Amino acid sequence: MSTLRFVATLFLAALLLSAPAAAQTTSPPASDTRILEIIDGVSADRIEADIRTLADFGTRNTFSDTLSTTRGIGAARRWIFDEFEKISEECGGCLEVFYDAAEVFAGGRVPEDTWVVNVVAVLRGTDHPDRYVIMSGDIDSRASNTMDAETDAPGANDNASGMAGTLEAARVLTQMGPFSSSVAFVGLSGEEQGLHGGRGLAQRATNQGWEITAVLNNDMIGNSRGIDGVVDNTTFRVFSEAVPVPDYQPDRWSYRTLGGEVDGPSRQIARYVHRIVDEYFLNLRAIMIYRLDRFGRGGHHTPFNNAGFPGVRIMETHENYIWQHQDIRTENGIAYGDVVENVDFDYAKKLTAANAAVLASLAWAPPPPPQVRIAGAVQPSTTLAWDRVESPNVAGYKVYWRDTTSPQWQWSRWVGDVDQYTLENIVIDNYLFGVAAVSPDGHESPVVFPTRQFRPGR
Ligand SMILES: [Zn+2]
Repeated sequence: MSTLRFVATLFLAALLLSAPAAAQTTSPPASDTRILEIIDGVSADRIEADIRTLADFGTRNTFSDTLSTTRGIGAARRWIFDEFEKISEECGGCLEVFYDAAEVFAGGRVPEDTWVVNVVAVLRGTDHPDRYVIMSGDIDSRASNTMDAETDAPGANDNASGMAGTLEAARVLTQMGPFSSSVAFVGLSGEEQGLHGGRGLAQRATNQGWEITAVLNNDMIGNSRGIDGVVDNTTFRVFSEAVPVPDYQPDRWSYRTLGGEVDGPSRQIARYVHRIVDEYFLNLRAIMIYRLDRFGRGGHHTPFNNAGFPGVRIMETHENYIWQHQDIRTENGIAYGDVVENVDFDYAKKLTAANAAVLASLAWAPPPPPQVRIAGAVQPSTTLAWDRVESPNVAGYKVYWRDTTSPQWQWSRWVGDVDQYTLENIVIDNYLFGVAAVSPDGHESPVVFPTRQFRPGR
């Protein structure tokens, strides 16, 4: 270092030392190397072992054997429970593991009244124990006929892959705590029979007043060889609803006059996933799909959305229907069946790592700012206002904006620990806006889109 540079550094250091309240005026770092550690910690070998174990239960159909120790849904859920307990032992008992059971009644794809049983493991947050970031996979599987509880249905990709990813994310994140918010790792059941497990857990969350930042529902994260002939292990899809269904009611938010048709809370989670993957991954990209789910099909994020919680579906980009919901058989030279041999474990590892990175960032971040409001009609500038987040984990706020046609937030400004900010000479008509809360180490809440107008000074 030259003498001149050394003197300049000393001078700068002195300036910084004398600056008042530096924590509130300095922008937190944009990235956190602990996230890279998390990504590196995810193991394709352990994911493979778990997928093999789950497939070896023969069938995990919701109506399969519950008493056997080697075959059926009962054995599978008890193994998952024990696995969470083992993970918990490795972190000094840091997980609360429990069964979440709901009775479902005969009708539709339910041949007889039964209990649908989920397995839940909670890593309790230090600042916000009742606020949850959730990763889910499914326990159950199906043969060609959903009502067939006897035929082998290994469900290696659908959805042992999502379940194995959830277990592996729990292994890695329990070694990286503590987190500000709680992280829940969830195995849901009864998916193929009509999304019963997700409905049950969403009901529990509602009854117990859980605040949910996001549900990351993983359903098929291990197939990289598509029915369309494309082999791709560098992208994945994030499905998200545009806005919650009740908000479509005209008295909730005036979409036609104020905008916001593509800015519901679940869509902000999809953007968050996209941002984190761009920030921390090489050679992996999240593709946002502007739909609740695939055309005419469903998944376990939807019952959470129906209950008013933000959530997305994460899955492979290219599905293969020959290896999905099919009895294992060969017909006209085509080998059908969702068997372990078709799963790409390295790809499942990437998608698991993407989940873990997003979970960690959200759980280290403050809750999203409440009551975000906007003003600026017939003005040269746009003003955003919000209520401060009640949390010891807030350094300040970041204002985002983008062109109305852009899928991603394009610009942002760190504005410090304030509850109002004016973007000078940014005309409100030409952009969409949002606000995020930021922790001292730079982790951001999801962006909140303003759904209320206000008049500055009031
Ligand atoms: Zn399925």
